[in-house]
Amino acid sequence: MLQKLYPSEIVDSIYEIDLSALKEKGIKAIIADLDNTLVPWRSTEIKDTLIDWVKDVRNAELSLAIVSNNTSRRVNGLSEQLGVIAVPSAVKPRRRAFRNVAERFNLDPSEIAVVGDQLLTDILGGNRTGMYTILVTPISSNEFIGTKIIRQIERFFLQRIKNNV
Ligand SMILES: [Mg+2]
Repeated sequence: MLQKLYPSEIVDSIYEIDLSALKEKGIKAIIADLDNTLVPWRSTEIKDTLIDWVKDVRNAELSLAIVSNNTSRRVNGLSEQLGVIAVPSAVKPRRRAFRNVAERFNLDPSEIAVVGDQLLTDILGGNRTGMYTILVTPISSNEFIGTKIIRQIERFFLQRIKNNV
């Protein structure tokens, strides 16, 4: 169980992901979490730095999708602005949404990297699906009360993982 919580990589933010290194590993697409990974929780605003990152991902010839446990209206609005596909209400760590994206891109799960700020949803879900997983530090500490509680459990696991790496 604990093994499935281990991210393949830990970085500070999406901007620190080495896209060319991912390509060398055979990664062809990125599935990004939305809240506190791409934008602050509940945000509907897209910063220029994020737009530039999406361009960098495209220039690296990587496909990009958003998979979010949040509901469709905001998720779809933001993904449309960014010009990427999205799966809202994803129920991560369930595998369905991750598999759905793999099918849409016609890729094997091992060719996809999942990027997210939560061990128990993004990383666990990605690992269960057989994808490469990258943990980022949450953009802001402002979040859903339920997430705050989960976060304490994650901190416990993350400390153990970091001690092991
Ligand atoms: Mg998140």
